[in-house]
Amino acid sequence: MAKVFYDQDIFDEVLKAKKIAVIGYGSQGHAHALNLKDSGFDVVVGLREGKSWDKAAKDGVAVCSVAEATAQADVVMVLLPDERQPQVYEESIKANLKPGSALVFAHGFNVHFSQVVPPANVDVFLVAPKGPGHLVRRTYQEGAGVPALFAVHQDYSGQAREVALAYAKAIGSARAGVLETTFQEETETDLFGEQAVLCGGVTSLVKAGFETLTEAGYQPEVAYFECLHELKLIVDLMYEGGLENMRYSISDTAQWGDFVSGPRVVNEETKARMKEILEDIQSGAFAKGWILENQANRPQFNAINAKENNHPIEKVGRELRELMPFVKPKQPVMSR
Ligand code: NDP
Ligand code: MG
Ligand code: MG
Repeated sequence: MAKVFYDQDIFDEVLKAKKIAVIGYGSQGHAHALNLKDSGFDVVVGLREGKSWDKAAKDGVAVCSVAEATAQADVVMVLLPDERQPQVYEESIKANLKPGSALVFAHGFNVHFSQVVPPANVDVFLVAPKGPGHLVRRTYQEGAGVPALFAVHQDYSGQAREVALAYAKAIGSARAGVLETTFQEETETDLFGEQAVLCGGVTSLVKAGFETLTEAGYQPEVAYFECLHELKLIVDLMYEGGLENMRYSISDTAQWGDFVSGPRVVNEETKARMKEILEDIQSGAFAKGWILENQANRPQFNAINAKENNHPIEKVGRELRELMPFVKPKQPVMSR
């Protein structure tokens, strides 16, 4: 089994003397900055003026420009949207990086696909939580954490691995488990996971199920509960104890249906499509398309997004959730 690091395996003194700049205060940025601060580390947030700046200031975190934060820091964690990182890196980070400091990412995309090429005299590593930023914060506050991967791309100081592990511990991830990987493995598996399973796979499965039922004349409300709402309850059981635990809880009829019908939905043909998706990721074809889409101001992204938000499952879902206040988190992610 791969070595998994936990709190007791990690010596975090190495990070105590260092100043950490968190660049960006979005989903991951706010979570890293607040968790690092609560863990007793010296944090400054680097931003442009605007919404995030005001929010960070309100949360009581030190804020300054990206250039100033970088120039002060020994560890610079880049938590800007991936597609913005190359430009901000060129304009505000590159020239201000202290020799011997660490340039850190939460996803390997830009380094792996050569959109950011760091200088030779800094450490380069990643600490990638395997969960949304808002859960990185929420679980930390609950005394738990979100598991993370770390990888060293460049070890100039000879300490990159220790600093990476200390960082992972400081954001709470070593409570859940931290695993070593490479930039290539993190980037390719992260893209594959979100495309084929977690985001693309699941949303397409949910919509196809909902459409099949409503097109056959069943009520959209019933189809919503069946194909979307209940998914969380099933996934929670899988999260707690794997497929076996989930199957223990469902009826034997449901389990028999799972065995005979699941492989009819996701079959050899689906797996062949997954392999094509993985090949596009490995070859750089996906990365190239996404980089060009951004350079063109996202014509396709915006068109698809508008259409998706109007899908009938979204309309009925909005109405039903209004009547189920308990499904809403105490601090809704979308309004933050
Ligand atoms: P977000 O989109 O949530 O972050 C946006 C932040 O970047 C905002 O604070 C925004 O500030 C700031 N920003 C945007 N453009 C600029 C700019 N030009 N100058 C200064 N600040 C700017 O990003 P995520 O947290 O989703 O992603 C950050 C990194 O973490 C990515 O590498 C991603 O792959 C990785 N990651 C993300 C996960 C997630 O849960 N979302 C999971 C694991 C990894 P403003 O308000 O001014 O626009
Ligand atoms: Mg991911
Ligand atoms: Mg990702």
